[in-house]
Amino acid sequence: MHALIAASSHHSSSPGIWFLLLPVVTVGYLIHCAIYPYRPCRYCDGGKHRSASGKAWRYCRHCKGTGGQLRIGRRILTGLKTTRDRAKK
Ligand SMILES: [Zn+2]
Repeated sequence: MHALIAASSHHSSSPGIWFLLLPVVTVGYLIHCAIYPYRPCRYCDGGKHRSASGKAWRYCRHCKGTGGQLRIGRRILTGLKTTRDRAKK
């Protein structure tokens, strides 16, 4: 009876697939971030903040006028690279 309960509980939850999939998904995401490092800035329209009249504008300070923001995955990659470069020296 004891063994049967243990076996059934082992079968019902199978987290093994997630341990296999997680690195694949993470690496895929990081590669995507390396190729496409930016996402559109959500504070402005193409790096410009328009005035009420629409004729004047100023650069967005969140993206410094680039209209894009670095994705989190790319920041992680940059962080990894700096740690690796530091280890070399
Ligand atoms: Zn912006």
